[in-house]
Order: sequence, then structure tokens, then C-alpha cells
Amino acid sequence: MGRPAGRLVPAEQSARSGPVRMCVGCGSKRPQAELTRFVIGPGGAVVVDRERRLPGRGAYLCGVGCMTAALKRKAFGRAFRGKAGLVDPSQLG
Ligand SMILES: [Zn+2]
Repeated sequence: MGRPAGRLVPAEQSARSGPVRMCVGCGSKRPQAELTRFVIGPGGAVVVDRERRLPGRGAYLCGVGCMTAALKRKAFGRAFRGKAGLVDPSQLG
């Protein structure tokens, strides 16, 4: 738990159209603007951050279908370092 957060900056980050993030569902890399951002909400649940203003670590999905894939892969647990609580897939609908 007390590990220092190493900041990994992928080489692809030098994108033309702003920061590029990886979809935790399918693993494809897209401009951040095209992805839906998720963060850990106050209750520990994973919530959509539509305004992209909430603090903290984010996880990104490129589409509704990727939510299912992300849940299967337990990708949120990985993205949030085991802190992810409940994920409500209907948030994307
Ligand atoms: Zn995806």
C-alpha cells in the first residue's frame, strides 16, 4: 500500500491532439477527449466523471461495450490499485 506511485509516461503521450489514454476495456489508445473517464467516488464506488474534473486517478473507457470487457478483466481493480468498489454499468447507458 505505501508504495510510491511511479509515474509511467508512455512514449505515445506526445500526441498531436492532447493526452492519449488507454481504454481499460479493450486496451486501445485514444485521445482522452474521446474516452469516458471514471474515478473512485466518495463511497468507494466507481463513478463516471463526465466533467473530467474529479480529482484522483482515472480509468478510461472508449465505449459501452468496453465496460463489460473491463468488468470481466477486473480492469478497474487494476486501474485503481485495488481500491475500486462497486461498478454500476448502467451509468453509461
Ligand atoms: Zn475500449
